[in-house]
Amino acid sequence: MTVLFKTTCPHCGSVGAVFTSTSFMHGKINDSGVMHVVLVCPICSDAILASITPDGSFYQNFSGRAHDAQLLGPHRQLKRVLPTPNVIAAPANTPSRVGAVYIEAVENFRAKRWDTCVGLCRKALDLATRALQEDALWKLEKRIRDLSDKRLITPEMAEWAEEIRIDGNDAVHDDREFTEHEAEQIVAFTETFLFNAFTLPAMLKARRSREEPNADPPSTSA
Ligand SMILES: [Zn+2]
Repeated sequence: MTVLFKTTCPHCGSVGAVFTSTSFMHGKINDSGVMHVVLVCPICSDAILASITPDGSFYQNFSGRAHDAQLLGPHRQLKRVLPTPNVIAAPANTPSRVGAVYIEAVENFRAKRWDTCVGLCRKALDLATRALQEDALWKLEKRIRDLSDKRLITPEMAEWAEEIRIDGNDAVHDDREFTEHEAEQIVAFTETFLFNAFTLPAMLKARRSREEPNADPPSTSA
């Protein structure tokens, strides 16, 4: 029997991957009507354990094994998938367009597509630095340096950007391939950058607006 399931792979992050049950598997339904199926990802070949409720009209034989055909019915419900896919989120207050690109970068990192991941990190940083600066004609690395000069990000961030050669020009001209380690560094930088640029200022603003009503001593009129 074969069970097909479309879900996000918790291992490689492929969205909408069609998992196939391992061919030798023969489902047994437990007392609560749930059946556990081992399925394999078509992209990374890693396995998940899905707990499903077969169609209500399924047939069980004496040992509780389910009849194949009904397991493929439309009313089958997915109860749980192990391991649970990690939800990717951009740092809080990141502009939605920048955040969407960052999430795509992380998805590609999980799928071990290092070059695509780095390209998307650069795109996220490009959009983010443009959102922070009015005059944004320079190279990305210079833009980051400028943000550091204006104290919108720390000097350490600008140094880090230089060290990991965040600027995209090298990759375009040298046609260089990125390693997992390099991609990891660039994703980490991007996340920290977004946190510094958007999350931290918003936190500070929220804190100040909470404190402001109490900033002036209460005036008492006699
Ligand atoms: Zn996978």
